[in-house]
Amino acid sequence: MSDPNHISEYPWLQQIPKLEWEEKKTIISEIDKLKKQRDALILGHNYMEPALYHSVADVTGDSLELCRQAATTGKPVLVFCGVEFMAETAKIINPTSQVLIPSQKAGCSLASSITAEDVRALKRSYPGVPVVSYVNTYAEIKAETDVCCTSGNASHIVNTLNSDTVIFIPDEYLARNIAKETGKHVIFPSKDPRQNPALETSIQKIFIGWHGKCEVHDKFETEDIAQVREQFPDAVILAHPECKPEVVEQADFSGSTSAMIKYVEKSSSHSQILLLTECAMGDNIIAANPHANLLRLCSVRCPHMAQITLEDTRDSLKFLQYEINLDPIIIEKARRSIDAMLAMS
Ligand code: 13P
Ligand code: SF4
Repeated sequence: MSDPNHISEYPWLQQIPKLEWEEKKTIISEIDKLKKQRDALILGHNYMEPALYHSVADVTGDSLELCRQAATTGKPVLVFCGVEFMAETAKIINPTSQVLIPSQKAGCSLASSITAEDVRALKRSYPGVPVVSYVNTYAEIKAETDVCCTSGNASHIVNTLNSDTVIFIPDEYLARNIAKETGKHVIFPSKDPRQNPALETSIQKIFIGWHGKCEVHDKFETEDIAQVREQFPDAVILAHPECKPEVVEQADFSGSTSAMIKYVEKSSSHSQILLLTECAMGDNIIAANPHANLLRLCSVRCPHMAQITLEDTRDSLKFLQYEINLDPIIIEKARRSIDAMLAMS
């Protein structure tokens, strides 16, 4: 962003009250200066607040797009405006860059639902079965994984893998949703490997899942859809695949955060659309597409994504904090699972 005083250059600013903009423009120009000084690149996930997402982020997108972008940067400093597992992924892809996350509190309920030892136990119970991990996992899990996947490519990865049985972790609902799309049956093994069932030879196509959940998407219920449809009978409902299978089934479309954005962009302003996902994304869509006709459910926020503010992003560049440091052996092993995904998608 060249000069934040030139509001006309940034149509999205017209959607934000001047009071807020006056406050933020000083921080935005500080970030711009620091970004040049550090030769840094800022990556912003679709869930970032609009004043950050539409101003200082050089690249924006869903997990898959940010992963692809991170693989091509070559910048000495990368600031990841998203959650920790995403910043770790950028570090795995760019081990010689300094990768920073503006807050140390940006976790994720899915990423913390499973440990590396849990994955090793699953592999001991089901030897030889390929492990597909959702990208919402920490580096040690990726290091135990054959191929990563994101919400944008999960079905494609499973189909390309072409294995009847797959350990698909850690998101229970994503496993159930993708199993449906790829014709698999899901089982959930016990944490104690001795109690795990032998795979039934009568059931040919099996996902071995895990009970991880996104604390945000878990909040949406089929009753919410029924209520919205009663009040707004023509509303089109889009659900992220981290939502419960029955919610996804009743929605009109399901896809990654970027797939939802594209859906809204292609829709006419006459269609009322409800997004079943983190609310800040709706703010970003409206800022960029003032005529989008979105219904809001803004009591549903991701507390982890919300940790990342413009102020913290400025301080991240100023004080080079908080650096992502990973064991080089973990980086090397985790890299294989990300490279395998990028090669397949
Ligand atoms: P996307 O890859 O669809 O952006 O999802 C990431 C995420 O954390 C959703 O909760
Ligand atoms: Fe994790 Fe859910 Fe937040 Fe995404 S929305 S970062 S899956 S807790």
